[in-house]
Amino acid sequence: MAVESGELVRFAPGEYQRGVNRGDERVVALALGAPRESGALDLQRDCENCGERTPNSIERAPDGEALVTVCEDCGAETGRFD
Ligand SMILES: [Zn+2]
Repeated sequence: MAVESGELVRFAPGEYQRGVNRGDERVVALALGAPRESGALDLQRDCENCGERTPNSIERAPDGEALVTVCEDCGAETGRFD
C-alpha cells in the first residue's frame, strides 16, 4: 500500500505494520497507537495452507532483510514485509 503526502493509513488491531520510504525525500510521519487491553501480541493471519486464520509469529526471512509472518500451526509463510 502506497501512502502519499497528506494521506493516512489505518491498521486493524493486531495487524503487523511497517513503513518504508521508497522516495528520495525525507519522510516526516506521525504514528499513533493504543495499548492492547491485556496480554501479549495475538497476531492472526489468513493461512492458505490451513484454510483459516491462525496464530502467527514474526521472523526474519532466512534469505535476507525481509520480515515474514509464519503460521504457528503449519509453519507456512503467510506474509512478507520488505
Ligand atoms: Zn497454517
